[in-house]
Amino acid sequence: MEPQQIAALISITGDESRVLTQPMVVEQLSRDFYWYSPVLRRQLDGKVADAVVQPLGATEIQSLLRYCHAQNIPVTARGAGTGNYGQAVPLHGGVVLDLSRMDQIEEIQPDGVAVCQPGVRLGVLESEARKKGWELRCYPSTVVKSSLGGFLGGGSGGIGSVANGNLRDFQTVRALQVVTMEPEPRVILHEGEAVHEILHAWGTNGVITRIWLALAPAVEWSQCMIAFSDFHAAYDFSERIATGPEWTKRLVTVFEWPISSFFTPVKQYAPEGKALIFFLIASEQLVAFESAARATGGQVTYSGTYLGLRSRPLLSDYTWNHTTLWAMKADDAYTYLQCGFDPDTVRDQLRQLKEKFGDEILFHMEFWKNGTGRVIPGAIPVVYFKSEERLNEMIDFCRAIGVFVANPHVNNVEGGGRYRPDNVQLLAKQRYDPKNLLNPGKMVTFQPEGQASRAPNL
Ligand code: FAD
Repeated sequence: MEPQQIAALISITGDESRVLTQPMVVEQLSRDFYWYSPVLRRQLDGKVADAVVQPLGATEIQSLLRYCHAQNIPVTARGAGTGNYGQAVPLHGGVVLDLSRMDQIEEIQPDGVAVCQPGVRLGVLESEARKKGWELRCYPSTVVKSSLGGFLGGGSGGIGSVANGNLRDFQTVRALQVVTMEPEPRVILHEGEAVHEILHAWGTNGVITRIWLALAPAVEWSQCMIAFSDFHAAYDFSERIATGPEWTKRLVTVFEWPISSFFTPVKQYAPEGKALIFFLIASEQLVAFESAARATGGQVTYSGTYLGLRSRPLLSDYTWNHTTLWAMKADDAYTYLQCGFDPDTVRDQLRQLKEKFGDEILFHMEFWKNGTGRVIPGAIPVVYFKSEERLNEMIDFCRAIGVFVANPHVNNVEGGGRYRPDNVQLLAKQRYDPKNLLNPGKMVTFQPEGQASRAPNL
């Protein structure tokens, strides 16, 4: 970008301190956690914006986008930069729009809908909601750091999804407001089904400036770790709890040994050679739960009341994609996949994967309720990376045996596995960002001025 363009951004914000150009700062705010993937590391290292702008509101964003549209400057929205697929990495320079200063919870309505700005941290929202008798329906294990706008833009689900589904399900996102990238940027409200035009579109088709998020009634939770000598027994017990409607749970995570040996701070609760399960279970059910675990051969190695996100240990810090982080700390050759199993044949699918790949794949199972209300076994398996070819072989094998893979080693919305077959994200981009200036390069089926209205086979 030219110096006069930076000067124009300063004049639009009226505040020099919110237009950042120091190279180290810009570099840092151009990165996310793409380095989890050895494939993306090669592709995205060194990609950097020209400037970072920190807006304070939707009107200011309209002015910024109006200017960037006229000047053909790419704009990449950023929450907290905890995405794993390089979603927030600007591929073509330009402006990173850092929404962290738009972090207000405007209201928690009596019906349990939170009205928020996009930069609010999920951990803050969870804590504030609990004070009013509500809690997040689902949240990523990065809850403390990540933002609500970033979760909607690039995330999917996590803790809580076993009971409440993912972000896309059960009208959890009631409505959201976006600013478009047009000669005269508009502020558009998306309600009901229309939210799916924007969800998980990686900021390629609008900048989210306001969110109406449905919460769940708060529960008093306990954290519990149960060890089993055998992975299959651990899986059976976890499936029983995850799918049993009589159990009130927020987290059910199973780790094959030696994954729990990577969890240094809680290693004392992980008996050598055993599979381990982490639970968040309603405190009122804890006694019955522990006795059910013991009756099936489980050993309770830890249990304690959940005291919110400051709990120590905080079990969610080891689950969902945090598991990969602990594995990488132990050996940086580890990476991961994101899989969905068939609930009826999951045991056979796991057996086939083990037979073919052995310890190259370590099972870390998670559960979520799908849109039809069925609880599905999924996994974010820890994978020992040998080569991109071997990784692709594993992905192909998964798909051949009916295991769904949301490939975390690609840097575009369509390739990641959560692109909507009804194509609404692409259609919204055609309406709201006809010049392809919002996070360009991430929605690869988009053609400026094109008429692509159907997704190709991906
Ligand atoms: P960013 O990384 O800043 O942004 C994500 C995407 O959203 C980008 O494409 C960005 O351009 C876009 N975006 C950001 N703000 C806006 C906006 N206002 N308008 C439009 N687009 C916007 N994800 C899960 O779903 N579940 C998990 O359990 C989970 N666990 C994780 C564990 C680890 C250790 C790590 C590193 C990541 C994990 N993730 C998980 C991924 C990520 O942390 C979450 O999805 C998180 O919610 C992203 O929030 P963020 O604020 O960091 O978003």
